[in-house]
Amino acid sequence: MALKGVNMKKYDYLVVGSGLFGAVFAHEAKEKGKKVLVIDKRPNIAGNVYTEDIEGIHVHKYGAHIFHTNNRRVWEYVNRFSAFNRFTNSPVANYHGELYSLPFNMYTFNRMWGVVTPQEAAARIEEQRKAAGITEPKNLEEQAISLVGTDIYEKLIKGYTQKQWGRPCRELPAFIIRRLPVRLTFDNNYFNALYQGIPIGGYTKLVQNLLGDIEVRLGVDYLEKKQELDALAEKVIYTGPIDAYFDYSLGLLEYRSVRFETEVLDMPNFQGNAAVNYTDAETPWTRIIEHKWFEFGKDAEGNDLPKTVISREYSSEWKQGDEPYYPVNDEKNQALYARYKELSASEKDVIFGGRLGEYKYYDMDAVIESALVLCGKELG
Ligand code: FAD
Ligand code: UDP
Repeated sequence: MALKGVNMKKYDYLVVGSGLFGAVFAHEAKEKGKKVLVIDKRPNIAGNVYTEDIEGIHVHKYGAHIFHTNNRRVWEYVNRFSAFNRFTNSPVANYHGELYSLPFNMYTFNRMWGVVTPQEAAARIEEQRKAAGITEPKNLEEQAISLVGTDIYEKLIKGYTQKQWGRPCRELPAFIIRRLPVRLTFDNNYFNALYQGIPIGGYTKLVQNLLGDIEVRLGVDYLEKKQELDALAEKVIYTGPIDAYFDYSLGLLEYRSVRFETEVLDMPNFQGNAAVNYTDAETPWTRIIEHKWFEFGKDAEGNDLPKTVISREYSSEWKQGDEPYYPVNDEKNQALYARYKELSASEKDVIFGGRLGEYKYYDMDAVIESALVLCGKELG
């Protein structure tokens, strides 16, 4: 017979998923004296921010990750677990061999139109917006033209967006393109964030430092051994896909997936920048990442690294069995998610969190903030 008030299970928390959400929760719970077990079905920790060491370069295995935030609490928090370099994201757009600076700024306008002053650039945009006759943009195409004009839309937005989303720009919501800054200055920092950088030593090390000596079991799929694992802990923090937890009983949530083709090249410098976007419709990949350029100082040390590692990214529609990357947060999927969320309320000892557990396109800083908020509520 169980004695009232006596903890009969081996762990207080079973954390399913060793990504940022799970690792932050596990760290904080351990700090509060809780007994924690972390499991992950992958052979490695760190979820989508996992970096793998290839030829001395930290390769972003599940897509390029640049930490950027305006949230000071989160910035100070992550800096406790890793130092960050001063990397600033400034991708280059390649349109049939013509190179443009991103996000849209005075360098872009100068290259596109030969304009030199902000006034000339603003006048060009206004002229093209007027000619297109758009007053209230109703879709991504109209929004893009009204923000930067037809030439930039045709060369830098149309092809890339259609490849990325697998749908024509006229069928996509306007807000997607408003994520990109448009600047009449020579500032080519992609993000409007107070703090930005890449963890020195890679993201995996950051997550390792969060997990410390917490017990971690890799290659363990929670859903395959649910009963057995549930018996080990009082509560479960589940960061996998919410629809998978319920065996897709209400239907499948949709995702965009990405396929990465990674190559080691026998040259020190392939493209001279971390990210080059291929903005034409014909090139099948959306962008090429050259991982070594994420690491500040590699420029000077480049000679010591005779090789380089690149990843071509191909965007695709997700199907069951693929890695889910970007939740498709349209009305249909949000409505389905709401029904799964309702179901989850009946799982009293399970907390759903993170990008897949909440079906939400969280950036890293937002996922950490949300884990810290949960810790405040759950751990006191
Ligand atoms: P995840 O990292 O996905 O972790 C979930 C973990 O749960 C995984 O390790 C998975 O294996 C495990 N799991 C799932 N199901 C089970 C199961 N049944 N049993 C056991 N384990 C399970 N954010 C930025 O701030 N900047 C960027 O530049 C950026 N770039 C991105 C690029 C791409 C291509 C993508 C897809 C995302 C990007 N993000 C970026 C977002 C960032 O990846 C997320 O915010 C963050 O990784 C989410 O962490 P998480 O812990 O919620 O999920
Ligand atoms: N975009 C574009 N050309 C580019 C880069 C981005 O047209 O060279 C568009 C594209 O529609 C993309 C959106 O801008 O979906 C937002 O870009 P961001 O880099 O924020 O996309 P993410 O990959 O983070 O979703």
